[in-house]
Amino acid sequence: MTDALAPCARIGILGGGQLGRMLALSAARLGLDVVIFDPEPDCPASRVAVETITAAYDDLDAVAKFAASVDAVTYEFENVPAATAAAAAEHAPLRPGALALDVAQDRLTEKTFLNEHGARTVAFRAVDTLEGLQAAISELGLPAILKTRRFGYDGKGQAVIREMAEAEAAFAAMNGQPAILEAFADFTMELSIIAARGLDGEVAAYPLSKNRHSGGILRESFAPAEISEDLSNRAFAMAASVLKALDYVGVMGMELFALKDGTLLVNEIAPRVHNTGHWTQDACHVCQFEQHIRAVAGWPLGDTAPHSSAQMINLIGHDADGWESWLRSRKAVLHLYGKRETRAGRKMGHVNVLGPL
Ligand code: ADP
Ligand code: MG
Repeated sequence: MTDALAPCARIGILGGGQLGRMLALSAARLGLDVVIFDPEPDCPASRVAVETITAAYDDLDAVAKFAASVDAVTYEFENVPAATAAAAAEHAPLRPGALALDVAQDRLTEKTFLNEHGARTVAFRAVDTLEGLQAAISELGLPAILKTRRFGYDGKGQAVIREMAEAEAAFAAMNGQPAILEAFADFTMELSIIAARGLDGEVAAYPLSKNRHSGGILRESFAPAEISEDLSNRAFAMAASVLKALDYVGVMGMELFALKDGTLLVNEIAPRVHNTGHWTQDACHVCQFEQHIRAVAGWPLGDTAPHSSAQMINLIGHDADGWESWLRSRKAVLHLYGKRETRAGRKMGHVNVLGPL
């Protein structure tokens, strides 16, 4: 373990939202200190970290100073600007590396990369003009989904097209940003796999979860998903192949569509811990946050076998007003993110309700 960090080492995290906060909590239990970099003072992670640097992501001097003050740098969001990642990587190992960010930041690059590395996706076309969109619709058929190539999250920057007449409005909704048209996946289930790769190349994955979204936002995950061994083996193989191709270190979330005929398609990957992996906090001995910290520290990966089944319920916006009743609920473990302001659509916390395996 030559590149492994020692206890009391410092890990820098770009981004101080709830994912950074939960990473910091896991790191603290392992005797590692976390330094958060976030433009927002008082961000959720800052209140559980040993130090916070409040600066803009494009303040490369601040990024360099931050990275020079830690032993490894990681991130909690995929939109870390390339220049920021490069500035950090000059002063400390960046885990996962810049390639993972580059691939995950652009849906076109991402889908191309996935298909080249054994992970099939829906059919897709790059769209830059209205005429291009109409041609892509003729090729892929309808319904289809037009998405901005970059910066989409929680279903934002997407327009479903059901008939050709809707093409113009969908194109206008992209606001002139480069876009991608995706064939509509007629899935029976949305699944995800949370997989990790260590510094030594070892790969480990948790059992898949079944996820329910509404309004583009994840509402609930159920794990382990009741699926065939074959399906879960195929998901593992796809995740392992992508992790290897990215020379990845850390936890990655891979969102999947299961089709009626048994086909498994990758929707997207997230080069970070993932909301559909929150169930592991209370149903596994080593959760996704600890797993990520272990990988970033160059430590051995942990056991991914669950000791319980779990239903993870996101507390979105005013859902969180009912936090107290969750404290009285048996087998429910409440997680609140310390966000001072409740806003519609904002992830405020989650609950893991445990059950027998
Ligand atoms: P985000 O980056 O916002 O998570 P996604 O591409 O994952 O964007 O889309 C959000 C949700 O929209 C998905 O979880 C799925 O329910 C639905 N969706 C996205 N793309 C497709 C598609 N090609 N076919 C069917 N449903 C889709
Ligand atoms: Mg998604």
